[in-house]
Amino acid sequence: MGDTASPAFDLTVVGGGPAGSSAAITAAELGQKVLVLERERFPRFHIGESLLPASNGLLEKLGVADQVREAGFVVKRGASFWMADGRAEHYIDFSQSREVDAPQTYQVRRDRFDSILLEQARKSGATVLEETAAKSVEISDDGVTLVYENATRGREEVRSKFLIDASGQSGFLAKRWGLRQGDRELKSVAIHCRYRGVQALSGDRAGDIRVVSLPEMGWVWLIPLSPDEMSVGVVVPRSRLSTTEALPGGAIDGTINSYPALAALFEDTEATSPIRREADFSYLPESYASSRWLLAGDAGSFLDPVFSTGVTLALKSGREAAEAVGRALANGRSREAILKRYSDEQFSTYRFFRRLVSAFYDPAFRDVMFQPSNRLGIVDAMTTALAGEWKPKLATRRRIDLLFGIVAIHRRFGIAEKIHTDAG
Ligand SMILES: Cc1cc2nc3c(=O)[nH]c(=O)nc-3n(C[C@H](O)[C@H](O)[C@H](O)COP(=O)(O)OP(=O)(O)OC[C@H]3O[C@@H](n4cnc5c(N)ncnc54)[C@H](O)[C@@H]3O)c2cc1C
Repeated sequence: MGDTASPAFDLTVVGGGPAGSSAAITAAELGQKVLVLERERFPRFHIGESLLPASNGLLEKLGVADQVREAGFVVKRGASFWMADGRAEHYIDFSQSREVDAPQTYQVRRDRFDSILLEQARKSGATVLEETAAKSVEISDDGVTLVYENATRGREEVRSKFLIDASGQSGFLAKRWGLRQGDRELKSVAIHCRYRGVQALSGDRAGDIRVVSLPEMGWVWLIPLSPDEMSVGVVVPRSRLSTTEALPGGAIDGTINSYPALAALFEDTEATSPIRREADFSYLPESYASSRWLLAGDAGSFLDPVFSTGVTLALKSGREAAEAVGRALANGRSREAILKRYSDEQFSTYRFFRRLVSAFYDPAFRDVMFQPSNRLGIVDAMTTALAGEWKPKLATRRRIDLLFGIVAIHRRFGIAEKIHTDAG
């Protein structure tokens, strides 16, 4: 595909998940000639079902908001945080955020959601090859040469001016080039499965994600995918996994059965999917872009999913990566500066959410979170961040700083009831 002298495409995108599709749709709309390579044939299973309100504006810009609205996904209006022993609960109600356009979002089946996006990339004018895996790449100052393998056509080579790696956790570029650094602090393992018959919430809260906080700092997610089917995952700090590691099913059953309040939700349930396990938790790259390559979505960084940030940030970074390519195509002399700006923006977004995610593993933070006071608008500010607003107003940021101040005082003087033990 294409001769070696003049690139056949402006942009090659590796991966057709949310980041890759978002990049491809945006690039095609900007007039770029785009090729998307996707290893699988869609629809395919993917974990990561709970969206955030901040994705609404992105879905609108990508031209898929109506299709997502009409797909019949469960409407999510907030997040319910519970203590496993039933002692405390705290609702995050997205309508309390003043900085997101619409407070409701969705719990999506990713096979359907990702297919809507990839199809939109095709409709926008991108060439999309499924069952096509990127195999090797050479990047020089004047372009990218990529070898891929298609299930029927075999090995082929393509030239393009830029490459966006949106290959998710498999990290086509980052793993090849050793760009990825694990987050030393956020090391967990997730074991997950779908169940029929789990007791659901009712009324306006029926579509909430439930995050059940375990005393030893792990947590359980319950995500309703339909009135009858629930995605359930147990996230355990690696240091706590011990012998259950060999028995993923045991980790789910064992956790649920350890807490009567949780076990009661699971009476008369049956599993509707295989049990799966994910261990590649929380990493970031040395850089998100340079030369003629950019990393978007999980191919760049991944953050522990407790606040459901992954898909929203994948859509965001995919769009920003394509916009950066557009600017670099129009202004070749500023290419490195444009890519550096893109990279800096991704680091800043990662740091903003990482601070909150890391706090969730701090017993003092959880104590305060489960006994919140909205004096000075602190709960509203947290709600804005947990709705996925990656650049909240200065006043909101200051209120979040204030919350961290209160947590520090609680750690020192115990100003709230101590309901969590140390991770140990
Ligand atoms: C346990 C767990 C729970 C999560 N829960 C949530 C949640 O509730 N909400 C949320 O928003 N996020 C969640 N996430 C995160 C979310 O799954 C990801 O952030 C999101 O899927 C990232 O999208 P992406 O497009 O970057 O990557 P992906 O969705 O992984 O897409 C990458 C695509 O690239 C393709 N690919 C890979 N290698 C190649 C190659 N060499 N050539 C061609 N194609 C290739 C893959 O087949 C895949 O389709 C969770 C993650 C985990 C691990």
